[in-house]
Amino acid sequence: MDHLLPPEIVKAEHSFTESLAACLDTDALLRLKGAYVGREGSHAARMMELLKAAPKDQKRELGAAINALKQQWEEGLKARQTELEAVKRQRNALAASWDPALPPPVPASGALNPLNRLMDRLVEVFRPLGFHVEEGPEIETEAHNFDGLNIPEDHPAKASSDTFYLAAHPDLLLRTHTSPVQVRTLLRVAKDMAARGGIRFLAPGRVYRKDEIDPTHSPMFHQVEGMLVGHGIGMQHLKGTLEYALRALFGPRTEIRLRPSYFPFVEPGCEVDVSCPLCGAKGCRVCKGSGWVEILGAGLIHPNVLKYAGIDSAEWSGWAFGMGVERMAMMLSQTPDLRLFFENDQRFLKAMGGLD
Ligand SMILES: [Zn+2]
Repeated sequence: MDHLLPPEIVKAEHSFTESLAACLDTDALLRLKGAYVGREGSHAARMMELLKAAPKDQKRELGAAINALKQQWEEGLKARQTELEAVKRQRNALAASWDPALPPPVPASGALNPLNRLMDRLVEVFRPLGFHVEEGPEIETEAHNFDGLNIPEDHPAKASSDTFYLAAHPDLLLRTHTSPVQVRTLLRVAKDMAARGGIRFLAPGRVYRKDEIDPTHSPMFHQVEGMLVGHGIGMQHLKGTLEYALRALFGPRTEIRLRPSYFPFVEPGCEVDVSCPLCGAKGCRVCKGSGWVEILGAGLIHPNVLKYAGIDSAEWSGWAFGMGVERMAMMLSQTPDLRLFFENDQRFLKAMGGLD
């Protein structure tokens, strides 16, 4: 409808938005208001004069155009006023609360996830015993994840229903445990095993299995693997080391017990229970009244695992263990749902600050 309006009004219409944004206080806004919609001498007043003078057959259309433009200006002015008032209130509040004698605000600092803290703590427990940390890739070969660990060709863990295989590289998979780090490390150190006099390490990390997400399962979770190879290593060394480590974690009165079990990469294999750290073995909900909680799987390294890495199993022996980090964290913190550890709910993470 610009064609109905004289050039000066069209020009004013075009510069209105810019002028409005340039108003940084209510005084400037009042001046702009006067210039556009004031009773006298404003663009609106000028438009009313034009309307009066217009030929009769144009009055209706011109009147509508003028009203629309005027309304647009008034709404713009009102909105800007609300904005400026909010800014002013904020400024006043800041000025009133500002006390130059107060110390500067402390920026909120982040913290490690409870699972990472627990893994760090396990590493610290084993460090004085000469254990260092080994790492491996999360995308693994079948050889490192299964074959090197004496896992038979027909083992159910190899099925694509249990394991994530890479679509483009069917021989690659997301590691299902931290145990391939054993294979990689043994292969690397096999040549200078004699010079080293053995090896001992922990391997903490993420692992993946095709599990549905529920309170106790997740397709991604964490494990800490431990391994020691030396001369004449037997079950007594495994038991002694675990007793030391689990007492460091759960308290000096912690008892452990070993129950025979089967894992392809150890022989003999065992499951390890600790006396329930929550009830002092008296019996509670967490230990289901038994006073014991299963905490990890372990055993003496199967000769085939050493053989695969090129290590003479007649000369060398050792033990290995693997534990689920989520499981331990859930027990220690009495958290019933492992999803809480991944969901980044600040309230949960804050409450977990006392986990260790
Ligand atoms: Zn208990």
